[in-house]
This record gives sequence, C-alpha cells and structure tokens, in this order.
Amino acid sequence: MPSRTEDYEVLLTIGCGSYGKCQKIKRKSDGKILVWKVLDYGTMAEAEKQMLVSEVNLLRELKHPNIVRYYDRIIDRTNTTLYIVMEYCEGGDLASLINRCIKDRRYLEEEFILRVMAQLSLALKECHGRSNGSSTVLHRDLKPANIFLDVKQNVKLGDFGLARILNHDTSFAKTFVGTPYYMSPEQINRMSYNEKSDIWSLGCLLYELCALSEHLPGKEEGSLCRRRQGKRQT
Ligand code: ADP
Ligand code: MG
Repeated sequence: MPSRTEDYEVLLTIGCGSYGKCQKIKRKSDGKILVWKVLDYGTMAEAEKQMLVSEVNLLRELKHPNIVRYYDRIIDRTNTTLYIVMEYCEGGDLASLINRCIKDRRYLEEEFILRVMAQLSLALKECHGRSNGSSTVLHRDLKPANIFLDVKQNVKLGDFGLARILNHDTSFAKTFVGTPYYMSPEQINRMSYNEKSDIWSLGCLLYELCALSEHLPGKEEGSLCRRRQGKRQT
C-alpha cells in the first residue's frame, strides 16, 4: 500500500529550498527520524515536472553509503504536493559548516577535509560508473550546500535535482546549470558537460574547504580576515 502523509509526524522545518521546504519527520510505525522535501508541483511547467520526475527516479536508484538515501515518495493530488522522504543528515550541510568556521575564525582539520574528499570520490565513482543499462549519472551541482554530514560525520552527497542521466551514446550532455564558482571551463564556455566537470567541482570544493574561500582568479586568496561579509550565495 502506498504510504500517506499521516504515516509521518512533522517535527520541524529545517529550511526552505528553491522548490519547497525540507522538514524533519518521524515515521510513526517505528519512530525512525527522516526528512521529507515538500514540493508543490501545482504551478510547475511541464518541463519542470519532468525534471522533478527524473530527480525522484534517479534518487530511487542511487543506493550508496555516501549518497543521501531515498526512502519513499507520497503524492497528494488534492494539494498538488509531492513529499520525498529521505535520510536525515543530522550534521547539516557543508555550506553551513564553512560559514561557522569563518565566523569562529578557524580552519577545518586536514583529516576532516581528506575524509570529505575520499567519501565524495566514492559517491561520484558510484554515480559515474553505474553499469546497469548504459547510463551514467552526473551530479552537475556539486557544492557545499549539497553535501551533508550524518550523525557519525559520514559524508553524503545530496540534491541530484539538476542531475541528468547522461547516455553513453551521446557521451556529452549540453546543459548550462551549476554554481558559477564551481563551474568547469567547458561549462562556462557553454560546451559539453561530462564526468570530468563533476571532478572539476570536487577540486573547487577542496580549495574552498582548505581556504574557506572560493577560488576567484586574479584576487588575493585564502585570507580569513578578508572574507566576504553577509550571507553566502549557495
Ligand atoms: P535547496 O537545496 O534548494 O536550497 P533543500 O530543500 O535541499 O533546498 O534544503 C533546505 C534546507 O534543508 C537546507 O538547510 C539543507 O541543509 C536542509 N536539508 C536538505 N536535505 C537534508 C537532509 N537530508 N538532512 C538534513 N537537512 C537537510
Ligand atoms: Mg539542497
């Protein structure tokens, strides 16, 4: 039987995203703590709905310790709302962690950064190297806000919202998405996007975790004192 919203209890709203909110929930049957993303698809254009369907289908397939685990989805047609039930990552996202470090004027431990890089490499290996069918999954929007930590400080890659399945036949996907600072040269030049572009973003992430600053060509880098003020752009 498909699950219903009544099967879960909403505990609190964690935050609001581009499409809707993310809430911490409790599964009533066994008390398991999870999150769901609440998305109103009522006003979405057909293309956006398609994107949503592909995001959910993609999430269902990705089962890896370093990828935010998908659990369930609930469609409430009366309210045109989709609930995507996912693993709760208690440690929050890396963008918040970076901001906390900047505020506290401290750098991240080298050991922690290495762990993040190792675990994300495993997550990307899983997406890029999938052998069922002939499709490779590209993340396309690898950035601190999309990387989570669980209670044991395990690293989890999330938000495959902009990912697309790249068919090996076409070998390149031509779409212009992503966070500017983390874009590879080929993306900026509106050229093809492939597995290597995700790896480029991973390199940018490494820089940001070490320097607590994005790599801005031509500017003096890495100083905690010169950090930009105000809210980070994610
Ligand atoms: P967007 O990425 O479009 O901003 P999200 O719904 O992904 O929107 O994120 C909204 C908030 O919820 C963010 O603060 C994010 O860190 C948090 N969040 C998202 N997914 C999870 C999760 N699985 N566990 C814990 N917090 C999450
Ligand atoms: Mg997100």
